[in-house]
Amino acid sequence: MNRDEAVILSRARGAFLGVAVGDALGATTEFMTPSEIRAKFGVHRKIVGGGWLHLKPGRVTDDTEMSLCLARAILQSGGWDLRAVADAFLAWMRGKPVDIGSTVRRGIRDYLLKGQLETPPNDWDAGNGAVMRMVPVALFTLGDERQLAELAVTQAHLTHNHPLSDAACITTGRMVQAALLGGDRFDLHVIARDLVARHPAFRFNDYPGRAGGYVVETMQTVFHYLFTTGSFEECLVGVVNQGGDADTTGAIAGMIAGALYGAEAIPSAWLKTLDAVVRREVEESAGRLVRLSPGFKPADKGESDEFRHAE
Ligand code: MN
Ligand code: MN
Repeated sequence: MNRDEAVILSRARGAFLGVAVGDALGATTEFMTPSEIRAKFGVHRKIVGGGWLHLKPGRVTDDTEMSLCLARAILQSGGWDLRAVADAFLAWMRGKPVDIGSTVRRGIRDYLLKGQLETPPNDWDAGNGAVMRMVPVALFTLGDERQLAELAVTQAHLTHNHPLSDAACITTGRMVQAALLGGDRFDLHVIARDLVARHPAFRFNDYPGRAGGYVVETMQTVFHYLFTTGSFEECLVGVVNQGGDADTTGAIAGMIAGALYGAEAIPSAWLKTLDAVVRREVEESAGRLVRLSPGFKPADKGESDEFRHAE
């Protein structure tokens, strides 16, 4: 494995671990206001569980679980199969998840009852629930921006069908991919500005401080902290102390910042506290997904370098 490939793998693991770590860290402050968080924690920067869902420390929620559903569907099918994704979501919903968004629930129910794989356009679908589960699609389509855009929207429309959600899904995927291929914060800023140029609602220059489940507020919060901090930890701490939909802003910020700074930049105390079973599946899936992608050199899809050199 050469250096570039090692970097891609570290950043891919960082992106998926970032989702899980951001979810687990942010679940504690979900639905709180910044001043409530300050009064209770000072600055919230440890994975301690609790929150409105009364979680064990390191427990993740729907953001990570739906991402794992997508990862399993891709890896078990060996490629893209939308029905396999819908089936994975359905199996997850039947397993009584600790949390599930109302738009997600409705979309999965419509698949169950009508076999519907694309929910109709709806003004109420501009939530962040399709963006939070983007990491497997970004890894699997690395190196093919057209396929990224197509699959981002296809997976989104199982539950969310709104132009702002679609645009945020594609942008998040593009940022993850740019970071995996060596992009820096400036490169990611260009991609965020491109989103704002097409959908001015996402403007994040004068951050208004709202961090709810509306995809515009979610992305503004993620962008603000991504571009005003210089490390994975400070980005995530900033995001989750904003409260609101903190587990989901945490998951999305973790995805992008994890791709940017790499797995080694994630605080080891956070990784140690993260649910061990989730951690293992997330790390393994990240590597397997990115190795399936066109961005990963074909020579490395087969035997390892060590094996070839031993011959
Ligand atoms: Mn959640
Ligand atoms: Mn949430």
